[in-house]
Amino acid sequence: MNYSFWFVVGSQFLYGPEVLETVAARAREMADELSRVLPFPLLYKVTAKTNKEIADVVKEANYDDSCAGVITWCHTFSPSKMWINGLASLQKPWCHFATQYNREIPNEEIDMDFMNLNQAAHGDREHGFIGARLRSRRKVIAGYWKDEVAQKRIGSWMKAAVGVAVSKDLRVMRFGDNMREVAVTEGDKVEVQTKLGWQVNTWAVGDLVKVMNAVTDAEIDALMDIYKANYDIATDNIDAIRYQAREEIAMKKMLDEQGCKAFSNTFQDLYGMEQLPGLASQHLMAQGYGYGGEGDWKVSAMTAIMKAMGEGGNGCSLFMEDYTYNLAEGAEYSLGAHMLEVCPCCAAGKPRIETHHLGIGMNEKDPARLVFEGKEGDAIVVSLIDMGGRLRLICQDIHCVKPILPMPNLPVARVMWQAEPSLTTGVECWITAGGAHHTVLSYDVTAEQMKDWANMMDIEFVHIGKDTTVESLEHDLFLSDLAWKLK
Ligand code: MN
Repeated sequence: MNYSFWFVVGSQFLYGPEVLETVAARAREMADELSRVLPFPLLYKVTAKTNKEIADVVKEANYDDSCAGVITWCHTFSPSKMWINGLASLQKPWCHFATQYNREIPNEEIDMDFMNLNQAAHGDREHGFIGARLRSRRKVIAGYWKDEVAQKRIGSWMKAAVGVAVSKDLRVMRFGDNMREVAVTEGDKVEVQTKLGWQVNTWAVGDLVKVMNAVTDAEIDALMDIYKANYDIATDNIDAIRYQAREEIAMKKMLDEQGCKAFSNTFQDLYGMEQLPGLASQHLMAQGYGYGGEGDWKVSAMTAIMKAMGEGGNGCSLFMEDYTYNLAEGAEYSLGAHMLEVCPCCAAGKPRIETHHLGIGMNEKDPARLVFEGKEGDAIVVSLIDMGGRLRLICQDIHCVKPILPMPNLPVARVMWQAEPSLTTGVECWITAGGAHHTVLSYDVTAEQMKDWANMMDIEFVHIGKDTTVESLEHDLFLSDLAWKLK
């Protein structure tokens, strides 16, 4: 889908046709110029002067799949009672951009005509009131429209809004059920579909095995060429790699046939398969598909959404699991990995294809998997949990580092990081909030974008950052629990 955003500018008839023509011309100019620097086109739609014009443009936006959000601004004063019907029915993400056509107040030129035409400071306050009065979910961004800071913030919000569009259209394919007895990977699929739009359904592993058996040698040869071009083959067990290729091709066929952009499986249900998909899942993730291990469909869906929110529509977001800590004073790190399935989008070097024994699950043969070190960089980890009656999105700021140890006998991809505000306080906060061991780790989606996404989705958001204390978090969670019970 080629998403775009709509620019709707508020005004009124009071100023006469000449002012309205100027407002419209400038709004178009701003939309055109901004479209050159923003990640998605901004289309000027209307200078709104009546209740009907606003209600009509909102109706159009709601029904146009390519419209990922609406950005409003008031060049002049625009009485807000005429915005009520439209805003009350708006179903797309809304950003109120408080800006101004001119950067500076001109000394000689300024008179009452200038004041009538250029009064965003006045109009944006009336516009802000109605957003607050209607309790509308909205993003307010203030700044000069030609400034990079303001443009970056709009661009960042646009990507979060695209995450909303992707979420509302997302289908998740579950191969088998969740790992037995695990609590945090469970969830209310009806609630999730209502709130987030996800269609989460199950397919039998036996159905996948049938499709696998129909994959041809020629198809496998073609995918082997892609593996060879992208990865170093560090095993003699070529059959194991070809088996992963067969799994990948079959899963991709089923996913694409059903329009699914995310999937989950579990090592406890491999009936008819020789290997848990490792390389197969990793290479699908590299192509933008979401994945969750142990039947974790929530983290799978979040991975697909956050990948779509990232750079170029398939950014560096990946399924991750907290495994173990380095608790040496001054060198406090978390080590994350998974038994096989870490997306190579975060690899610091060229990943190696290796085969090793996997004791967990019913693997008849050693699964091939990509082994690599994760790259350095600021990142976040995100976990969506079902609190019973509502969803909570937890986000923590982290800093990924080059792993401090080579760990030559660890047969999986690994990422090492420092957590905010510190390892131990961060762990206390994460556990207090109920965050899962499975997360989406992202290098290019920010905490602010996840907050915006959660706000647009109307779900609870918890942020653990450098200023978070256990005491403040407990207080916030207590109040939040009360608020969400009342909602
Ligand atoms: Mn796991």
